[in-house]
Amino acid sequence: MKDIGLILGIRPDVIRASKIIKLLNQSTDIDFDFIWSGQHYSENMKDVFFNQLNTPKPDYEFNIDVTNDATTVSSIINETYSHLENHKYKAVMFLGDTNTVMGSIGVSQHNTPIVHIEGCMRSYDWRMPEEKYRKTIDHLSDRIYSYLPSYKKQGLNEGISDSIIKVTGNPIVDILDEFKDLFDTGVNFLDDSVKNFIKDDEFVLVTCHRRENILSPESFETIINLINTTNKKVVFPMGYATQRQLKDSGMKLNNNILVVDPIGYLEFIYLLKNSSYCLSDSGTVIEEACILGIPTVQMRHSTERPEVYEVKSSIKFDPTINNDNLEDVHFKANELKSTVWKHPFGDGTASKVIVDDLIDLSKNNNFNKHARENYDFDISRSFLK
Ligand code: UDP
Repeated sequence: MKDIGLILGIRPDVIRASKIIKLLNQSTDIDFDFIWSGQHYSENMKDVFFNQLNTPKPDYEFNIDVTNDATTVSSIINETYSHLENHKYKAVMFLGDTNTVMGSIGVSQHNTPIVHIEGCMRSYDWRMPEEKYRKTIDHLSDRIYSYLPSYKKQGLNEGISDSIIKVTGNPIVDILDEFKDLFDTGVNFLDDSVKNFIKDDEFVLVTCHRRENILSPESFETIINLINTTNKKVVFPMGYATQRQLKDSGMKLNNNILVVDPIGYLEFIYLLKNSSYCLSDSGTVIEEACILGIPTVQMRHSTERPEVYEVKSSIKFDPTINNDNLEDVHFKANELKSTVWKHPFGDGTASKVIVDDLIDLSKNNNFNKHARENYDFDISRSFLK
């Protein structure tokens, strides 16, 4: 039996967990398999991140059906279940709130302990599938790594046992720290079309991919209108689902907006660092910008990262509400550029804290102890007592 199986599946997973993967791989104290669920599979949504961040490649890759969310989740559960018939782990670990974390149901069926990185974040917006996924995996987990004490408190409020939630800080800080000297080289990976477009001019960076934004015609139109409102140059690395929605909607972006396919990490952070501000609905980009001192407009009705509003690195833009003063949003974002904030996401040691804890739990075979504690807690009010 190995100690840990780690199952990841999308672009920000590789980025955020890159140091955790390296530390687990290097450690002689822990026996570890890395499994790729296959949710993201193209070169520019997957391989480029392993290469640029010098991250060990997966030991196993699932073969899944990504036709839609239901086929994706069901085939990940099937593949996880089958994998665990032939490979035994003391615990299986997931990160975040994606279709991939629903593989935890296949792990539950084997009664193998589950570890969840990024636990107990909540948007309290029950219309988001991600919120349902987050709650489900947290309540299946035997060990939860929460980035901030405020997230842990949210888990405690739901009755999750105090003893299974460990506060670690956010591992994205570790990544930005580790690669800080390399981001300036990102310019070398940029396509000439982008370099020639921005020249030395000020520009705004945009990302938009969330289903509640792109699948709602009203929200999508509001977002396109917001992007079309600035006179600055705009670089928009656009995911494929968003490209499809834009084409189908018939809406047009102005000529000062350059749309490109998704780009690699070094070039993306290069652009982010050099932008005036960023419009985004991405969870990770909003954190990265806050850490790097770049203002953001968070294009979301609800967020599980309210601390960016608290430190005032970000302005809320709710795409579900008709906003007739779009110029003001750009004006305020531009103004934020001259303010300074202290980011709240931790000290850059999260990956090590997580791996040290995993080693400790594995050595002492304590995942089950945590499982029992959680179970005792739950049955204290049940007929089983
Ligand atoms: N990113 C990238 N290239 C791009 C767009 C984003 O490398 O073209 C990075 C970005 O720096 C961040 C992550 O991908 O680390 C964000 O991914 P996404 O917005 O898809 O996911 P979310 O964080 O919302 O789950």
